[in-house]
Amino acid sequence: MNAGARPPEPVRTTCPYCGVGCGLRVEVVEAAAGASVTGDPTHPANFGRICSKGATLGETISLDGRLLHPLVRSAGGAMVRTTWDTALDTVAQGFSRIIERDGPDAVAFYLSGQLLTEDYYVANKLMKGFIGSANVDTNSRLCMASSVAGHRRAFGSDTVPGSYSDLETADLTVLVGSNTAWCHPVLFQRMARNRQERGANIVVIDPRRTATCEEADLVLQIAPGTDTILFSGLLVYLTEQLALDYSFIDAHTAGFETALVRAREIAPTLAATAQRCGVPERDVARFFDLFATTENVITCYSQGVNQSAQGTDKVNAIINCHLATGRIGRPGMGPLSLTGQPNAMGGREVGGLANQLAAHMGFSPAEIERVGRFWNAPRMARREGLKAVQMFEAIERGEIKALWVMATNPAMSLPRAGAVREALGKLELLVISDNVEANDTVGSGAHVLLPAAAWGEKHGTVTNSERRISRQRAFLPLPGEAKPDWWIVSQVARRMGYGDAFAYRSAADVFREHAALSAFENGGMRDFDLGALSGISDKDYDALGPVQWPLPADAPLAQAGDTRLFGDGRFFTSDRKARFVAPEPPALKEASSGEFPLRLNTGRVRDQWHSMTRSGRSPRLATHIAEPFVEVHSDDARAAGLVDGGFARVATAHGACVLKVTVSDGQRPGSLFVPIHWSDATASSARIGELVAPHTDPHSGQPEAKATPATIASARLPLRGFARSRRPLALPSGTWWARIATSEGHELRLASDRDLMFWHDFAQATLGRDAEVVEVVDAHSYRAAFFVDGEFDGCLSIGTGEAALRWDTLKAVIAAGPPSSGAPVRIQVAPEPADTGAVVCACFGVGEDAVRDAVCAGRASNVAEIGRLLGAGSNCGSCLPELKRLIARARAKAAA
Ligand code: SF4
Repeated sequence: MNAGARPPEPVRTTCPYCGVGCGLRVEVVEAAAGASVTGDPTHPANFGRICSKGATLGETISLDGRLLHPLVRSAGGAMVRTTWDTALDTVAQGFSRIIERDGPDAVAFYLSGQLLTEDYYVANKLMKGFIGSANVDTNSRLCMASSVAGHRRAFGSDTVPGSYSDLETADLTVLVGSNTAWCHPVLFQRMARNRQERGANIVVIDPRRTATCEEADLVLQIAPGTDTILFSGLLVYLTEQLALDYSFIDAHTAGFETALVRAREIAPTLAATAQRCGVPERDVARFFDLFATTENVITCYSQGVNQSAQGTDKVNAIINCHLATGRIGRPGMGPLSLTGQPNAMGGREVGGLANQLAAHMGFSPAEIERVGRFWNAPRMARREGLKAVQMFEAIERGEIKALWVMATNPAMSLPRAGAVREALGKLELLVISDNVEANDTVGSGAHVLLPAAAWGEKHGTVTNSERRISRQRAFLPLPGEAKPDWWIVSQVARRMGYGDAFAYRSAADVFREHAALSAFENGGMRDFDLGALSGISDKDYDALGPVQWPLPADAPLAQAGDTRLFGDGRFFTSDRKARFVAPEPPALKEASSGEFPLRLNTGRVRDQWHSMTRSGRSPRLATHIAEPFVEVHSDDARAAGLVDGGFARVATAHGACVLKVTVSDGQRPGSLFVPIHWSDATASSARIGELVAPHTDPHSGQPEAKATPATIASARLPLRGFARSRRPLALPSGTWWARIATSEGHELRLASDRDLMFWHDFAQATLGRDAEVVEVVDAHSYRAAFFVDGEFDGCLSIGTGEAALRWDTLKAVIAAGPPSSGAPVRIQVAPEPADTGAVVCACFGVGEDAVRDAVCAGRASNVAEIGRLLGAGSNCGSCLPELKRLIARARAKAAA
């Protein structure tokens, strides 16, 4: 930067991770490797707050592993660089040839909630209006499809009625199947503040005791799959307590009596509800009483509700209770689905799901005709397409012959991921647009790889869980030959002969058309209406601040406050009345058995995101949970002979993984929890999708990802350790490993059943080639640091127990540098100094032991004092629930 030149203005954009949709300010300092990312104080989703994932985004923008040029598969099978023209022609000609030969349903698109709305819009339009199939689905099917289906059954539209600000005026927040503290951290901070400042109650309903429970007044640790029983019981209780709003029910709803009859069959009494849900009756009574006597109730739900073969019924059982009490559409109340992905909502708006057409319209003849006229489309899809799981089954059967995957990794994330990977290999044409040059899907037999622009490199919009549309803005140049997805799809469409309909020059062009379609012949009959934005200028699009829909043509663009729907009691059904839905009697799709007696629950951890392609680049995020694990109750651990910190093989009928064991009584006996994040690129044996059964909800098509029958057995891997290297390092086959981010080079955590001599020989043969070495040995471990040309080049630490994972000794050896004699040096060491334990605060790298020590020594007794003393918890706040739990335990220990 020239002396005296003004630093560049921070770019206002949004976070690419979760559905909270936090506003960010990003500053890229020239010549710096990263970017400074802070919360945007003016954004209504977060008002300046961000979580640990958002705060470390600046560490994730390097180009390591990026796909930078188009690649096509050569006749010899290798992926070779080509021009955009050749790649686009290959895609267009391949799709056209297969459509001509086998019909439009022989091709499919599989999209992602990570795409921007503009990308989604163009892909959906091409498939449903011009190819003539509705085989376009998205990984959001795995995330919140049950909420979509539940909304449409109850409201006649996929509408989230409320706003985030309701979390600050609610007097009771009910969290169902949601580890909000870890998965929507900034919203959780808003809930926790409401509890602390206004005395609001928080009730958590979840089979697993999570970090979210640290702020709860009541936890109902229900048996898996019993949510519908609990909310049916609540409806019965509200009826008996005369806590219903009959004037609302009579004026604005239909179907109450039928729903109540079904609720009485499912959960006739409070005692029966408690017994069937597997929780104490007094706790159920307290929850029911709180709900009955609190007017401002907000019920937030997430994947624990959605990812179920009866997820839609669960959603409707929750909505039934809000309709029955008239608690919807007013401040501080209502059902609020928390979406997982940053733009799952934008995908829903566009219609990027196989059972939606476009702009919240479906497949009725009138809607097909209307959208066809708007698009001037020659070949409209006339019926729903295949939803994600069914789409990949059709690929497996050979019915779908060409697939275009954009910004997602189905060979890792779908149920039965192993079978999905094999199915992909059968495709005549597999096209992948992505940021990464390698992942499980790319490795399944891609024919064309198209380099797509990533977060920070492209312009567009996303919509968060409260219907708020925000801009994502580029702050980095497009690297290599990367292009935005909307451009890539438009270019293919032009080559397929649809140039007039895909003549977009910018993301703003696409957005204007998307907004215009939402308003086309709407007349207030459809909830989704962006008419006010349909003529937005390029300049106003560039400057667009966060806005909530609906925004009909006469709405002001600069919104004050929040918008809510249904405050007037008018819904989007044919008679404008909401519908109560009678749920089916709940039952998990697949019974457990002698072979698979446990239930496998899958989910997220605090500091990673999806398949770690971005979050896995951050060294700070890697310090929270570095290795894939299985959480197991102590009873089940005992029965299987497992120890905390050991290893276990978790198996289902579909596959098996080997994972580190975490014994936790936060699990219900009989349940296992495993994180979804690790793939073949990041761990040796942790592709959890491979274990998940493909059972789906009949209404939403969402898979039951949280209750696959499973078994667990001890895996003997007595040696633990890690290897670091400046160069990529291949470990011997049979080694258990997990890759973790470091500020430079490569680090692999490892475990092995081979002996120390084997690892000594391995280190010498790989890291030790042409290197000077310092070896550090004791009775139970082997450590070695290698130097090339006087510089640290790599190291290995391996031994029995967790001590070999400590970095301290090698750090000192590396700091001392290579041996001055040039001869190998072997030193005997004193016992390892204590480290600070597992990192709890990623922002300041504060370990659990440091917190415990401070509390036990009387130097701190609460989170504020810990924050002042160690810094922990004083930045993004993501670790506050864990800090509270640690402090409480340390205080109890100190008092004992
Ligand atoms: Fe990003 Fe965290 Fe905000 Fe989610 S809560 S949008 S991950 S900063």
